[in-house]
Amino acid sequence: MVDSTPASPTPERSAHDVIIVGGGLAGGLIALALHRHAPGCRFALVEAGRTLGGHHRWSWFETDIPERERALMAGFDLKGWDEGYDITFPAYGRTLPTSYRSLASAEFHAKLVAELPPERVMLETKAASLDAGGVTLADGTRLGAKRVIDCRPFKPSKHLAGGWQVFLGQHFKCETPHGLTRPVIMDASVDQLAPHGNGEAYRFVYVLPLSADEVFIEDTYYADQPRMDAEVLKGRVAEYAHRNGWKGEVIDQEAGILPVISGGDFAAASAEVAIPGVALAGARGGFSHPLTSYTLPFAVDNALAIAKVIARRPELTGAELAIFCARRAKRHWRATAYYRMLSRMLFEAAEPGKRVVVFEHFYALQGRLVERFYAGRSTWPDRLRILTGKPPVAIPRAIRALFSSGKPLNMETPA
Ligand SMILES: Cc1cc2nc3c(=O)[nH]c(=O)nc-3n(C[C@H](O)[C@H](O)[C@H](O)COP(=O)(O)OP(=O)(O)OC[C@H]3O[C@@H](n4cnc5c(N)ncnc54)[C@H](O)[C@@H]3O)c2cc1C
Repeated sequence: MVDSTPASPTPERSAHDVIIVGGGLAGGLIALALHRHAPGCRFALVEAGRTLGGHHRWSWFETDIPERERALMAGFDLKGWDEGYDITFPAYGRTLPTSYRSLASAEFHAKLVAELPPERVMLETKAASLDAGGVTLADGTRLGAKRVIDCRPFKPSKHLAGGWQVFLGQHFKCETPHGLTRPVIMDASVDQLAPHGNGEAYRFVYVLPLSADEVFIEDTYYADQPRMDAEVLKGRVAEYAHRNGWKGEVIDQEAGILPVISGGDFAAASAEVAIPGVALAGARGGFSHPLTSYTLPFAVDNALAIAKVIARRPELTGAELAIFCARRAKRHWRATAYYRMLSRMLFEAAEPGKRVVVFEHFYALQGRLVERFYAGRSTWPDRLRILTGKPPVAIPRAIRALFSSGKPLNMETPA
């Protein structure tokens, strides 16, 4: 948590054109885009942790990022699969053709510290407070800046509604080659109802063949409550590995509880985290896919847009940059209304044990439609197509869900 009572500030140490607070995915990419596209911009990336990017693995479909923006991710040590990916449901299995990419945060950190000038990256540096004129660090140091961008983590809000995506993934080094060549984005042929019952449902396993003998297995479920029993999830991952005949040791692990947003009052939620004159970006700024909780494509798009506007308008003030980001966030919220409606269908119209049918119905659709869905760029014909056919949920429940305001997403700290 950010200290609310910082030590009395010492005099300003330096003036920056931009200070980015939070060197996670969004902040790190903004720094990289400024470095590449706004030459001469004196920015600082302030990160509380010892490394940039935390401890994650970010994945995305190649088509999530428009071709003209892909260069930002070029140069990272990515894992890539160009032979499509598999999905498995109780009723059918299928291979879809889209290429898939994945980046571990260790590689994110390594690339950023190699490319960014060292004086621009401040690790193990915690911001205590942010304002339009700069940042006061937890040790009392004051950093003055023309513009400040807040990229600290997402903050749950009672003004947003929805459910949660809960997951735990383990990276295995297998004793022998595992034999997988493509990612398995969803294996939903697994049990759907919780063995320990906490309202969870729609469960699937996600598998990435990271090399011939390394495999990443993640157990995921869409849950009503932000609760995780890590031991249960580890047991399920081990069981999945065993069922596939993969023996080996666990060499890394990630876990997360991410919001699945089904509605709410975006202006009120933003007002809770907004600081006058400070721009908001990343998941905290609302730049996520409501249903998948992914942020990477939006973080790339935002980083490039911010760098380009600063390069084009060197006189741009911090307050103007804050408005620029807030307008983009509002547009993003409006553009993703359809996915929030689908989240309501998932959490409120579908009975927990039958949520799998909603995804089973969706994945039977055309591959390009699935690509546009993940990228958050579904066309109107796509939207109609997803909703037509034999409905996977009961119509009266679907109608109630359409008009429901959902459950508040006001958890302070994920359990
Ligand atoms: C385990 C996991 C896996 C995920 N996988 C994917 C995926 O495959 N694809 C995808 O698109 N999305 C994924 N997501 C969702 C989302 O993309 C990530 O959460 C993403 O990291 C969000 O980026 P961000 O920069 O907004 O926030 P974060 O990455 O959370 O970064 C915020 C940063 O701010 C720093 N910070 C906090 N307070 C301070 C302070 N006071 N001073 C300085 N620094 C501070 C933190 O240390 C952190 O580094 C995943 C999330 C998790 C948790």
